[in-house]
Amino acid sequence: MKTISILGSTGSIGNQALAVVSAHQGMFRIYGLTANRQVKTLAEQARIYKPAKVVIAAPELYRDLKALCRDLPVEVAAGPDAISELAADSRHELVLNALVGFAGLAPTLAALKSGRTVALANKESLVAGGHLVMPLTTNKKKANLLPVDSEHSAIFQCLQGEREAEVENIILTASGGPFWGYSAVELQKVTPEEALRHPNWSMGAKISIDSATMMNKGLEVIEAHWLFSLPYEKIKVIIQRESIIHSMVTFRDGAVLAQLGVPDMQVPIQYALTYPHRKPCRAPRLDWEAIESLHFSPPDIKNFPCLQLAYEAGKIGGSLPCAMNAANEEAVRLFLNGDIGFLSIARIIEAVMNKHKLIKLPDFAALQEVDREARHLAQEFAKREGIIKC
Ligand code: MG
Repeated sequence: MKTISILGSTGSIGNQALAVVSAHQGMFRIYGLTANRQVKTLAEQARIYKPAKVVIAAPELYRDLKALCRDLPVEVAAGPDAISELAADSRHELVLNALVGFAGLAPTLAALKSGRTVALANKESLVAGGHLVMPLTTNKKKANLLPVDSEHSAIFQCLQGEREAEVENIILTASGGPFWGYSAVELQKVTPEEALRHPNWSMGAKISIDSATMMNKGLEVIEAHWLFSLPYEKIKVIIQRESIIHSMVTFRDGAVLAQLGVPDMQVPIQYALTYPHRKPCRAPRLDWEAIESLHFSPPDIKNFPCLQLAYEAGKIGGSLPCAMNAANEEAVRLFLNGDIGFLSIARIIEAVMNKHKLIKLPDFAALQEVDREARHLAQEFAKREGIIKC
């Protein structure tokens, strides 16, 4: 029996993780669950999975959660600090971090510092604070940072039993998102509703927009740089329209290993939860006879500049990826709100990156400040962009 906690249990990854837990009765015990604002769903989950602790990120919802859980033997807490406190709790072995955005960094650091294993679905932890996270993951034999992102899980699976020194490069696959093949003119008119309709994967709102702008792949390039300690020159991106190849590793003898499967997050989530073992999984199987062909093409950096911006931010490093990430979070929020057009997202990120004053080795407090400032700057630029809504 493995005791686990899920940060962000009411989101897409959180729900699918709980489905994995339900499918393997007797294998997992849930210690803690957290949600951002969805008190009702969190209380329902508490009723089913009987955690010892539930935390709601929004402090103003504490009373509501407390009331909904009044007949349950569960400790109720609220606020971001309570989430980090839960992450560091010694009563669970593994923490699945499925939070969205920069908010995920503090709990990742807290969990690793207290010797917990982290199954990481929050890529922003590594994008903003990879230099703070990675020194806490020194024990290579007993991996204590397990990727949940499908591409990184694929690479992690391809690397099992291999030597990192023998890797020539890694190839992250991208679906291209819902707007692949669109011209700049067409992209000007796309709506949040259209952007949320991903062709292959079912995901939360923020990552769906990131996927449409290709910033998701950019964040994943930085995530891969930290996870697999590879220079950016060795991290390639290729469009794989069907999302059947989840990523690949080229070794120095020219051999390429790939991990394939239907696009279903249950597989990488479960692999992180049961690692180093593989357990039965209900996810559908690939129907080989129905796959007529697989399509590959290079990413379109002209119409989807976010990928290039992320490479730049990653290569320069320091506080720049954190600023880029904050600008992106803010721009995505504004786009979802209908305040700015789709093409303004990349323009806002680039403007914030150009204005950013680089800090070479920022500590956590400095990153918090960078995050705050970059969001503020993004809003300033957005005000300007909003006037000429495109
Ligand atoms: Mg991914």
